Amino acid sequence: MSDEQRTFTVPAVNMGRLRAKLDDLNKRARKLGCVEAELRVLREYETTVRNELGIEVYPYRRKWYEVEILNAEPVRLSGWRFIATIEPTEAGNIIRAAGDVEVPQRYRTSDMTCDHCHSNRYRKEVFVIQHEDGRYAQVGRNCLADFVGSTSAEHLVAQSQWLDELRGLGEEAEEGFGGGGGGFERGEETFGYVAICAAAIRMYGWLSRTEARYGVGRQATADQAWVWVVGPMGYNKDAFADMERDGFSVGQADVELATKAVEWARAIPADVQNDYLYNLRTASSLDEVTGRNSGIVASLVQAYLREVERIEVERRKREAEEANPSEWVGEVGKRDVFTLNVVGCIELQGDYGITYMIRFTDDDNNVVVWRSSNNFNWAHDTGHTVVLKATVKQHGEYKGQKQTYITRAAVIEW
Ligand SMILES: [Zn+2]
Repeated sequence: MSDEQRTFTVPAVNMGRLRAKLDDLNKRARKLGCVEAELRVLREYETTVRNELGIEVYPYRRKWYEVEILNAEPVRLSGWRFIATIEPTEAGNIIRAAGDVEVPQRYRTSDMTCDHCHSNRYRKEVFVIQHEDGRYAQVGRNCLADFVGSTSAEHLVAQSQWLDELRGLGEEAEEGFGGGGGGFERGEETFGYVAICAAAIRMYGWLSRTEARYGVGRQATADQAWVWVVGPMGYNKDAFADMERDGFSVGQADVELATKAVEWARAIPADVQNDYLYNLRTASSLDEVTGRNSGIVASLVQAYLREVERIEVERRKREAEEANPSEWVGEVGKRDVFTLNVVGCIELQGDYGITYMIRFTDDDNNVVVWRSSNNFNWAHDTGHTVVLKATVKQHGEYKGQKQTYITRAAVIEW
């Protein structure tokens, strides 16, 4: 046998774990006297993603690494190396090969005779070993050490197990469906995942995982997006069929919304106070979404839409103010009745203690301000309409806005 050499195609999200696990295996390799394995990246590329039905999960592109895991074969003991374990069953022999090695077909039907002691008795297993010169031998566990002329026959087995694990590692990293713990995960490209979330929100409305847990009869947005990208498999089957029947698809507008949302989240300052926004920034900055952070990434579109709405409301308010600027109302020194909407109340610390500045607007957008020493809990009445009887104290201006200052106000009607 020449050097073991295998190439694997690994999703980008699993590359970090692959490297970490290989490091662990190599630590063991040094103890076992195996030659350490080496990971070599041959190329990186992206693919469009189709789900199980062959539908392209637009605008998905998944990043892959083609890697080579090279390792020289394990050290031979006295020229022998371990090839396979043979376990007899009533239906025939089960052959567990140590990796890619070829096990001669005769071992499928061989009896349990040990080539060392030549006894054929019941054994749970025998080992097939191969010499450098090509010879094979079948040896029982107790004779293995004597046969290869080494006290550490178990070593051969340990080495072969190590090799098995090494090969399993590449395959696991390719699959990427282990999930959770230290296992490999399936990752999805962030922009694409968010675009699918945007489409799900457009078609079904936003639903958090917490709300979905209370059994509203459909899946959370984060899970709908996952279902769509994974395809109709296992417990996803019904949910996928529902979405398909509803004509679910990701459109250009969803892609644009997703792009803006991701860019917005990535630009959230790192020192932002709010923990949710900080996590959103972090999760959205990754190239790939995993099952574990899919919930927060799915909430991105909703958070972005809220932000856009907040900015829009402010813009409209500013525009309305510009189109219909505040004018003075009433006559200075005269007492009058005013119907006003409560805008807000702020506390002011003055020389004579705390006063409260309550701001109102009337239906023509004119600003009225009352400074009162009493807190009537106005802050809680924001948005309410009151009828006040008050004296106009002054027609003033603040930051270019005309404001009417009132005094000795009495509430006539809520
Ligand atoms: Zn024997």
